[in-house]
Amino acid sequence: MRPYSPLTIASYIIGPVLIIASHIGSLLVFTTGLSWGALVWIVGLYAIRMLATTGIYHRLLTHKSYQAPASVLWVGSVVAAAAGQMGPSWWKAHHLLHHQQADQPLDPHSPYTPPRGIGGFVWSQGGWLLSSRFFPAKLPVDVESDRVLRVIDRLHFVPLVALGALSYGIGGVEYLGAFFLSTTLLFHGVQTVNSLSHMAGEQPFVTDDFSRNNSLVAVLTLGEGWHNCHHAFPASSRHGITVKAGRVIYLPDPTFSFIKLLQLLTLASKPRVPTEADLLKRAKDRLQPSGITAPVKTLANS
Ligand SMILES: [Zn+2]
Ligand SMILES: [Zn+2]
Repeated sequence: MRPYSPLTIASYIIGPVLIIASHIGSLLVFTTGLSWGALVWIVGLYAIRMLATTGIYHRLLTHKSYQAPASVLWVGSVVAAAAGQMGPSWWKAHHLLHHQQADQPLDPHSPYTPPRGIGGFVWSQGGWLLSSRFFPAKLPVDVESDRVLRVIDRLHFVPLVALGALSYGIGGVEYLGAFFLSTTLLFHGVQTVNSLSHMAGEQPFVTDDFSRNNSLVAVLTLGEGWHNCHHAFPASSRHGITVKAGRVIYLPDPTFSFIKLLQLLTLASKPRVPTEADLLKRAKDRLQPSGITAPVKTLANS
C-alpha cells in the first residue's frame, strides 16, 4: 500500500500530464515564430530552473552536499518545482532509490532494466514516468516532516502554471510557446542524466553501476553529466572531477560554481568535496595497473 492519500496521488498525476501538455504546447512556436526576446526567455528559464534542480533538489535536498538556511531550500524548491518535474518529496524518493539500486532491477529509471538498447534509452529518457514506477514506494521522512517542503511537494504544479501565466502576460502566445518549449527541453535535459550518463562516456572511478562521465550531458545539465564521479562520491558538492594518468583533474561544473556563489553570499556553507587522496583511491587507472580487480560492471558481465 502506498504511504500517501488519494489526494496526493491525484496531485502527482498532474505532473506527467503537464509535461505532455508542454510537449504539445511547444508546437505553438511554429505558428508564432521566435523573436530574440523569446529565445532569451527560453534559455533563461532553462538555466535558472536547471540550476534549481541540480543545485537545490539534487545536491542540497537529496545529498546534503552542502549546508544552507531553510529559506534557501524552500525558495530553491519552488523554483525547481517550476521545472515541472515534480516536488521535493517525490524527487528525493526516486533519486535515493536510484543510488541504492543503480542499474539493478529496482532502479526506477535504469536504461538496462527492464528493456535495453533503444527501448532502454526511451525508458530512462522519460518512459518510466508513464509506468507504475512513477509512484515512489515511500516518501523521505525528513522532507515529509518539513511542512513547507510538504506543501511545495503536493502543490508542485502551481509554480509551473504560474510561470506559464507570467510568460503569457509578458509576451502573449509567443512567450507562452517559448515557455512550453523551454520546459520540454529542460525535461529532456534532466532525463539525459538517467539515460546517456549511464550509457556513454568515461568511467574514471570504480563504482558498482554503469554511471559515466558524459561531457554532452554535463553541458546540458550544468555539471550533472560528470555522473561517474557523482556515483563514486554522492556526497560531493562538486561533480566535475576526473582522474587521468594518476592525476586529479577538475572539470567545468556550473552547479558547483553556483554553490560557491551562494557561499560567497553567505547563503551556503561547508560544501563537501573529497580529498585528492580519496579520489585517487577510487580511480580505476590507479587500481588496474596494480593488479587489483576493479569491481566495475560492464554490459558483458551484468
Ligand atoms: Zn545515476
Ligand atoms: Zn545523486
